Amino acid sequence: MILNNIKREIPLDIPQKEGVLRRITPHNPKRKRVEEKLKRRWSGHKGELALDYHLRFLPFKSYQVIRGVRLRAFGNAFQIDTPILNPHAIFITEAKNHKGTITYNEEKNHFEQTINGVTKHMDDPLLQVTEHKQQLEEWLRYRGIYGYPVVPLVAFTNPSTVVIPPQNHKHNWSLMNAVHIVDKIKEIERQYKDRPTFNIDKIRDALLAENTPLEQDILQSFSIKSSDIIRGVMCPKCESYAMEWVRLRWQCPKCSYRSNSAHLLALADYFLLGKDSITNREFRDFALVSDRNTALRMLKSSGLEYEGLSKKRVYKKPDDLPAFVKHAINQK
Ligand SMILES: [Zn+2]
Repeated sequence: MILNNIKREIPLDIPQKEGVLRRITPHNPKRKRVEEKLKRRWSGHKGELALDYHLRFLPFKSYQVIRGVRLRAFGNAFQIDTPILNPHAIFITEAKNHKGTITYNEEKNHFEQTINGVTKHMDDPLLQVTEHKQQLEEWLRYRGIYGYPVVPLVAFTNPSTVVIPPQNHKHNWSLMNAVHIVDKIKEIERQYKDRPTFNIDKIRDALLAENTPLEQDILQSFSIKSSDIIRGVMCPKCESYAMEWVRLRWQCPKCSYRSNSAHLLALADYFLLGKDSITNREFRDFALVSDRNTALRMLKSSGLEYEGLSKKRVYKKPDDLPAFVKHAINQK
């Protein structure tokens, strides 16, 4: 059996974007866009964690929560952040972190968000889940699973957000504050009680088996040239790329900080920016290490798996890259 993904991992593109920001100059024109996207991704991830907190109160015997799955239907990939499987239905939940009061303007046919008395138009939060519902239904049909109801839900995760659901929206999916999600799911499930039941272990295994997490060429996605990437080893204290390897350790000529392992983050960045492996020469070129044997010692002690002998040796990207990045950052 495939292990259920019980813990929600930080999506890889978050440390990738952080790696990009470490490796481009403060004046790079792409910086602002990367920063904005990163901020949005963190906020989305935190919303999902807040949703996970409420979902802990679902009875685990009859519900299985999957933390993020990326599938394909109609030839396109789609990501469902929180599918919740029950023998009667599958709930697909979209976490939103809007503040204030969310209402539906029945006359103008659009959603509005009011904060401190100021009302503005907001994107329809039901559009994306509606699309995901159609895609998941197609995915299930293609696997011979018919009649398994796909129920979209939108949960606002900010505890103070007030949600007033629409009366006459063409999609009558449920919108609510996340504090009410467990009650809402149980209430909807009761409506399906007399319908056939489905083997959720089997469906969960199929979902996880076909999960293909997005592997992004992060530089390409922001049209950043590799020549714009700063090479060298960053000083963990003053963050300048000036570290020099002197007498068996890194030394910063700007702030005099010393480190034995500052090169680990350079290695992590090399993989985050899109490479699957690194050779001694590539490492020297990227981290600006002049001596081959010094680079060899650093690579050997990095804990990376490798293939090949001597000069043909290739060190492989760690399977758990986010963990490697975290370890590198914590090694001062
Ligand atoms: Zn420094």
